[in-house]
Amino acid sequence: MPRRVKIIATIGPASAKREILEKMVEKGLDAMRLNMSHGDHEEHQAKVDIWREIAPDKPIIVDLTGPSIRTVVDQPLVVKEGEKVVIGKDFSTSRDISGIVKPGDEILIDDGRIRLKVEKVEGNNIVAVVTVGGEIKNKKSINIPGADISYDLPTEKDKKDMLWGIKNDAEVFFASFVNHAEDVLAVKEFLKEHGSDAWVFAKIESELGVRNAKEILEAADGIVVARGDLGVEIPMEKVPAIQKELIMLAREIGKPVVVATQMLTSMVDHPFPTRAEVSDVANAVLDGASALMVSNETAVGKYPVEVIETLVKIILANQDDTDVREEVAYEDDADAVALSAIKLIEKMGARFIITPTNSGKSPRKIARFRPKAKIIAVSDNPSLLRKLQLVYGVETKLADDPISYHTFMSIVDELKRKGRARKGDAIACVNVAGQGGTHTIRITRA
Ligand code: PEP
Repeated sequence: MPRRVKIIATIGPASAKREILEKMVEKGLDAMRLNMSHGDHEEHQAKVDIWREIAPDKPIIVDLTGPSIRTVVDQPLVVKEGEKVVIGKDFSTSRDISGIVKPGDEILIDDGRIRLKVEKVEGNNIVAVVTVGGEIKNKKSINIPGADISYDLPTEKDKKDMLWGIKNDAEVFFASFVNHAEDVLAVKEFLKEHGSDAWVFAKIESELGVRNAKEILEAADGIVVARGDLGVEIPMEKVPAIQKELIMLAREIGKPVVVATQMLTSMVDHPFPTRAEVSDVANAVLDGASALMVSNETAVGKYPVEVIETLVKIILANQDDTDVREEVAYEDDADAVALSAIKLIEKMGARFIITPTNSGKSPRKIARFRPKAKIIAVSDNPSLLRKLQLVYGVETKLADDPISYHTFMSIVDELKRKGRARKGDAIACVNVAGQGGTHTIRITRA
């Protein structure tokens, strides 16, 4: 059975070489993520140039830094429990946070390793007490659980990074620390103004983002369960249940959902994962995630190719043990037709659903139900097809005349020729039309 859950890898110094990237693609990598919080445009450009040559039908994802706040210190500063510090004097922050914190708020530094409690705000200075001490180094992350830091999205840096991404026809942008639907709309607006129809996925990494996830997902093209920051912003033991809720929400709305961060962390240094990591990855598959994303594992780890092989193995071993499709509600006639088509062809033992698409809606509608059959999205738009590589179970086919009977039959012939469909196998063509249109299911035998 072909793999249906997609794989996204962050490309960094450990994986930027052509030979390594080629091997990663050969093993099953579906999309390259470029993290704008690291490296410069020149470095990222080299990766883009290789990617476009070796994976012309696969998407590039530009992950924007967003409103993240970092420490600014000339020299590392040691702080001890009970001590008072003044942010603005003893050390500063990359963005002024005096307007968004209030007495009693927690300020977490370096992924929560160092913790401060705000006592008072005096002008631009914040007086805080150290509750967990440590050494504050330059450029370390700052999280303020509960605070709304997305007040000026997209930031000036994001705008520069988006212009660079647009120049390179990036198919997808990840917007970081999205707290409101308006944050997504602002990113989309900027892209549109500059001639890009790229997809925007919202990274959900704060309590506010979780609370507003429905309206955010309605505005966005997909979401990322960004477990790294999420596990700092809210108690990390709550993240697994939130992951399940967000996956379910994305399936209800019919948009892709990516599970990210610390999936195979031990593979940064070792060629094999831990049992717990295997279990975590498998559970994301069983929950119904569209895609899994690795970060350090492939960006700086020693075994980027093995990481992809490991993800493929875990996905293949678990993707058929899930039957989550009945959980999502019907929203319209198109859903009813999509689910009927899946049930019908599965009863007939079919393994392929061919679906012509202009906007990507049909394959997304079908993917909501997480069919076991492979969805072949057919379009004359190569950029749309690259985006659709992130949708559960979708593979893509470029055709001049996507809706014609001739195109359908030529794909059937190709499946037969390549030995993917056996003679006599049932193959479906599902056409889920727009509002007021006619939905059709055609079945043929290979
Ligand atoms: C995360 O926080 O899980 C995440 C994916 O974001 P970043 O890697 O940009 O911190």
